[in-house]
Amino acid sequence: MEVEIVESSDISVRFMLRDVDVAFANALRRIMISEVPIMAINEVVILNNTSPIYDEVLAHRLSLIPLKTDLDRFNLPEKCSCGGVGCPKCQVTFVLDVKAENTSKTVYSGDLSSSDPYVTPISDRFPIAKLASGQAILLEAYARLGRGRDGAKWQPVSACAYKYLPVLTVNSEACAHCGECVEACPRGAIALDDDSSLPYLKDIVKCNLCKACVEACELGALGLQADERSFIFYVESTGSLPAYRIVEKAAEILAEKCDGLIEELRGVLK
Ligand code: SF4
Ligand code: SF4
Ligand SMILES: [Zn+2]
Repeated sequence: MEVEIVESSDISVRFMLRDVDVAFANALRRIMISEVPIMAINEVVILNNTSPIYDEVLAHRLSLIPLKTDLDRFNLPEKCSCGGVGCPKCQVTFVLDVKAENTSKTVYSGDLSSSDPYVTPISDRFPIAKLASGQAILLEAYARLGRGRDGAKWQPVSACAYKYLPVLTVNSEACAHCGECVEACPRGAIALDDDSSLPYLKDIVKCNLCKACVEACELGALGLQADERSFIFYVESTGSLPAYRIVEKAAEILAEKCDGLIEELRGVLK
């Protein structure tokens, strides 16, 4: 197996995964979507709400605000020594105490005050409610780690997809160097080589394997296949975790699952 990072930032990572089969690539993708835990607000106690937003809608909005997550400091509630009741190792408390005094006021995620200075909304500018003069909200909200399989609010990725790596083949004897294939490519992924004037894939990330280039070549000099053991992944974080950390954690979870299976098998086959 080989991994090559194509581009990486806190928000997204694009990487090539070679020499694996599609089942492995898909397992990694599904774990990133549904099993890598992040923090999200899971319980809200509303003490006062005179805003036009119903309590349930307010709670739902709060739950969908992405929170910065520190996987090294927090436990999943079911794995915490408190038994999931709620302690500083598995729960963070937020307080929202806002009132529009003389004019209307928009309540933003930045108005939430957190019991943990690291676990905060990823942006202060998510609107929560608009209050008319005299209206107020007072509530406590509890965030905990959870997994995307239990609710979309715990999904760490806003995009997580892969495609096969394209492989272009050119019959150099048949090619007339006309450039029709280059013209036909809607994504600018193919070009003619300066020296040989033969087409080549100048940007494999842009190529979506549409084969418009192959169809454009009347001489049949061009072929394009998918390498079925190589994948280009694109992972975009909601902001709760750095994108590379989501990939890393997914790989750890996959390894744990395999270890668990081996142990179970040893127990059964003894
Ligand atoms: S369209 Fe065919 S002949 Fe023309 S440059 Fe491309 S591969 Fe060569
Ligand atoms: S398969 Fe489609 S995207 Fe890829 S190089 Fe050919 S025309 Fe361009
Ligand atoms: Zn706990």
